[in-house]
Amino acid sequence: MIGANSMFWHEEIETLNRAELEALQLNRLRETVRRLERVPFYRAKFRASRLKPEDLKTADDIRRLPFTTAADLRANYPNALLAVGRDEVLRLHTSSGTTGKPKALFFSRRDIDTAAELIARAFCMTGVTRRDVFQNMMSYGLFTGGLMMHYGAEKVGCMVIPSGPGTSERQLLLMQDFGTTVVHVTPSYAFYFADFLEKKGIDPRKSLTLRKAFVGAEPYTEETRSKIEAALGIEVYNSYGLTEMNGPGVAFECEGKCGMHVWEDNFVLEVIDPATGEPVSDGQTGELVLTSVNREAMPLLRYRTRDLTSIIAGPCACGRTHRRIHRISGRSDDMLIVRGVNIYPQQIERVLMSMPQIGRNYVIQLEGLDEMTVRVELSPSGFDGEVEHLAQLQNLVAEKLRAELFVRPKVDLVASGSLPVAEGKAKRVIDKRSM
Ligand SMILES: [Zn+2]
Repeated sequence: MIGANSMFWHEEIETLNRAELEALQLNRLRETVRRLERVPFYRAKFRASRLKPEDLKTADDIRRLPFTTAADLRANYPNALLAVGRDEVLRLHTSSGTTGKPKALFFSRRDIDTAAELIARAFCMTGVTRRDVFQNMMSYGLFTGGLMMHYGAEKVGCMVIPSGPGTSERQLLLMQDFGTTVVHVTPSYAFYFADFLEKKGIDPRKSLTLRKAFVGAEPYTEETRSKIEAALGIEVYNSYGLTEMNGPGVAFECEGKCGMHVWEDNFVLEVIDPATGEPVSDGQTGELVLTSVNREAMPLLRYRTRDLTSIIAGPCACGRTHRRIHRISGRSDDMLIVRGVNIYPQQIERVLMSMPQIGRNYVIQLEGLDEMTVRVELSPSGFDGEVEHLAQLQNLVAEKLRAELFVRPKVDLVASGSLPVAEGKAKRVIDKRSM
């Protein structure tokens, strides 16, 4: 099926040769800079560096443009980065931060249509068609994950069930009665739902018509993907997006599940060393930086996403020419330093998810002077309940984590379903250290 016409939403754009794609990007980048001359924040930066749109002559010239950070968005809250008149704004979304005010993002009519278009491409490349029934288990509201995927699925022509997250009984009822084939869900809720089915004795392969899931909004590991696929009997496709760049639809996997294509006609992709701001080579992990070159209401130049990934060199078997990135391996601000060692939560997740006796929900707790405790649920069926076996298993998990992290955490195995479940993004790290 790979490469067949039916798998493309807009084949001409998706397979544009690199030279044409880069020329299109550059054109759109110049237009974007022109547009941003109306925004005082950017105008001041262009003046300071004496930059004019026509100075942008090659793809590398993007490096002459300033970075934009989350702090810049907050400093310009609520609407100082708006690049169109208020009358042209059709929608507001926000992105919550860990501190203070949210980031406010505006969309024009064309911006919303474009966002839906990019999601439609992603649906098509995984074989979703108008015959599918799409149940959107993401939060509707200020978070883009709900509404934007909804619009994308409608563009494809799927029947959309806007279920939102939570209430597993109702999710199940909808799936059974309306023949849901595709869902959009966070990895933590996918796990929770799989446990819910298992406890009810429902085999999704027999009782449900689910075939595929778009799983995103939180970084997760390849091991987690395999576990969700096995538990629900479906194909899981990784997706990446952020409200600052339309929401979902920035990058998605094709049927090959070999990295996520970034829609480069809409976003200029860079991966940089977060410390120096200089580009890293393909294959090397760094911070993802994105420039929206096809937005009207609020384009952003070189936005520092803080998400860590790397560019996958070379063409993809599907025929698309838009470059791919690896799954997000963490956020540069998620890194924990425990007893002088750099640790990413995803390393811990990878170890936990590779063990069949271990369940799907976990929390990393840091207290006192660098005491790390990993609290993790047991699998609902993978443990025999013997106390001495529990101690052995705790020891085994701690040893596996020590081998990965070079720090041995305390491991606390708890009953399946006993840790809190997030309806939106899961909070995996609780840092109560006294420093
Ligand atoms: Zn591909």
